This record gives sequence, C-alpha cells and structure tokens, in this order.
Amino acid sequence: MNKITRRTLVKTGSLAVLSAVVPVPLATFVKRKKMEENQQVEVIIIGGSYAGLSAAMALGRSMRTILIIDGGDPCNKQTPHSHNFITQDGEKPAVIAQKAREQVLAYPTVSYLSDFVVYAHKTENGFEVKTRSGRAVAAKKLIFATGIKDKLPEINGFSACWGISVIHCPYCHGYEYRGKQTAIMANGERAFHVASLVNNLTEHLTILTSGKADFDTEQLATLKRNQIVIIEAPVLEIQHENGIVKSVIFNDGSQLNVDAVYAAVPFEQHSTIPQQLGCELTEQGYLKTDNFYKTTVPGVYACGDNTSMMRSVAGAVASGNMAGAMVNMELTKEAF
Ligand SMILES: Cc1cc2nc3c(=O)[nH]c(=O)nc-3n(C[C@H](O)[C@H](O)[C@H](O)COP(=O)(O)OP(=O)(O)OC[C@H]3O[C@@H](n4cnc5c(N)ncnc54)[C@H](O)[C@@H]3O)c2cc1C
Repeated sequence: MNKITRRTLVKTGSLAVLSAVVPVPLATFVKRKKMEENQQVEVIIIGGSYAGLSAAMALGRSMRTILIIDGGDPCNKQTPHSHNFITQDGEKPAVIAQKAREQVLAYPTVSYLSDFVVYAHKTENGFEVKTRSGRAVAAKKLIFATGIKDKLPEINGFSACWGISVIHCPYCHGYEYRGKQTAIMANGERAFHVASLVNNLTEHLTILTSGKADFDTEQLATLKRNQIVIIEAPVLEIQHENGIVKSVIFNDGSQLNVDAVYAAVPFEQHSTIPQQLGCELTEQGYLKTDNFYKTTVPGVYACGDNTSMMRSVAGAVASGNMAGAMVNMELTKEAF
C-alpha cells in the first residue's frame, strides 16, 4: 500500500503525488499521475456530487490527501435547470457540478476517480474500500456523500417528466410554475403540507389522492376555503411532450389538464455500504448523524441528501462543507 501523507506531499512539493481519473479531460489536471492501485489517503469521499465536492473543498484547503470516488449518478440529473442556490440560480445541474469539480481538483492533495464503491470494511488503521473496477484504497476516515435514490411510481409518463414538470419541491421549481394549473400527487399530511406551500404560488390547485382522501375535518375545511379540489380516482397516466406534462389521465377515463405536478415519492439510500459498516438509519431512512455529521460508526461521516429531508443543493453544500471541516478537525486532534 503506497502511503501518501500530507507531510510527504509538502516535502516533495509535488503537484503530481496523487492521481486523478476525471470524467472529462481538463487541461489543469494533466499533471496528475494515473491513480495507482492500493493507494492510501487520509480521507475517501464516496459520492462526488455537491455534498462530496463541498467536503473535498474544505479538506483540500486543509492539505488533506483525499480521494473522491463518484459513480456519476446524481439525483437531479434529469432536471434542466437548478434553482434556489445563490450564484448558480437557473444553471444546469451538471454545470454546477463541473465548476465545483474544477475548483476542488485545483488543490494538489485532491484526487478524483470515476468509479463505484462496492465494498468497504474496517481495518486496523481506518478503512479500506473496493471499487467496481477492482481498485482498493485505504483511508483513515470515510465520508459518505452518496445521496438517495427516488423510487418513482410505475405510472406511464411519470419518469419522463420527473424533475422537468413533475417536481418534488416548491423551492426548487415552484416559481417557474407560478400561476399555472398545478396538481399535487399525494395524500394526507404530506399533501396538506405541500398544498399550503404551493397555494402561495398558484390559485389553481388540485390534490390527486389516488384513493380515499385522508384529511381530517379541519384540513378539509382549510382546503375548501382555499378552493383546492380533491380527486380520488387513481392516476393511470401522465400525458406529456418531451417531459412537459399536458394532462393527467385517471383510471375512470377522466382527465385533468395541468402544467405541473408535485409528487412525493418514496426513496432509498443510494448506497447501502454505510449500513454494512454498521451505520444506523433514522426512522425516516436517513443516515443518523450528530450535528457534526458523524455517523454512529467512529471515523465514518455522512452529508448531503443521505442525511437530511431538507433536500437542496445549498443544503448539500453546507453539510458537506461542515463534514469536511469536522473530519479535518478529528485528524488534527489525532495527530497534533
Ligand atoms: C429531480 C430533482 C430536481 C432537483 N432540483 C433542485 C433544484 O432546482 N435546486 C436545488 O437546490 N435542489 C434540487 N434538487 C435537490 C438536489 O439535487 C439534491 O439535494 C442534491 O443533489 C444532493 O446532493 P448530494 O451530493 O447529497 O447527492 P447527489 O447529488 O444525489 O449525488 C450523490 C452522488 O453519489 C454517487 N454515489 C452513490 N453511491 C456511490 C457509490 N457506492 N460509489 C460511488 N459513488 C456513489 C452518485 O453516483 C452521485 O453522483 C433536486 C432533486 C431532484 C431529485
């Protein structure tokens, strides 16, 4: 195992001690050597989207040797424009990530590998991870920034519209559909909550419960007062043109013309490796962490969507930045 410490890096003064395998060739990174097998770094960040790259920024600026391993499958990949993150409002999600990658990889102790981690285990000095392509890398600390996977319903047209006109969050995409004919595909507390938020953006709201509506008398009165219609017939299909929803078709043959649909969908962790390492989940299915993004397994941190129901690029960046700083502090305490 080739051990690369911060000290050897500083001693050699080399920008090429660590290597990077980046998804797109970028002139600034050509000095980096091809990543060697059985490498050792101080921190491995699994997941190199917004949360992982933000953690890498804090660690790279602290001259920690780190390797980011990313499978290239962020949850917002289908959305054409990302909103609600200052300086990047309306930018394409992939462009934000690429800018972040370029800035993070400019730090000489940061490496990047396009690969997928399939296994991790505890070792005497930390952890070892294995990737799909057969690489093994060891580190003192792990950060999981692996995100979550949405489990989209098998309704015709749903996945084609996901992130375009079938949306999950009023803060991310609600403004673009202000004043438009809007449906909310949900029931009970969740539907009531979304309706209360979206009601400020449009007066044309219909809740689609796909079954018996589950609201108490007070909620029903509030929905009625706000002229929000409820349709109980199950949704059969979402008709669309290139992801832009035109209408919702119900299994009784009726249809509702809409411009946007809010949908609450279930999710699962994108990676089950934290659980294999012993990390506990919350009741809602997020990785349990303390305020400093430490999981329940010493040396393992988690940040971004996999830890929080407040799902946003800004939130992922904030938690990644904090996790990176906390890992740096732990490493500092251990060595100082
Ligand atoms: C459709 C949609 C639209 C959205 N629009 C907005 C918006 O407009 N504005 C906004 O602020 N937020 C938006 N969000 C929310 C935002 O995209 C997320 O909060 C953010 O992407 C979370 O970042 P993350 O780094 O935690 O996870 P992700 O961005 O999901 O990235 C996780 C990364 O980890 C990688 N990974 C997972 N497991 C492994 C493994 N074992 N090995 C290697 N790599 C692995 C994945 O390949 C992926 O690249 C949207 C979300 C969705 C679903």
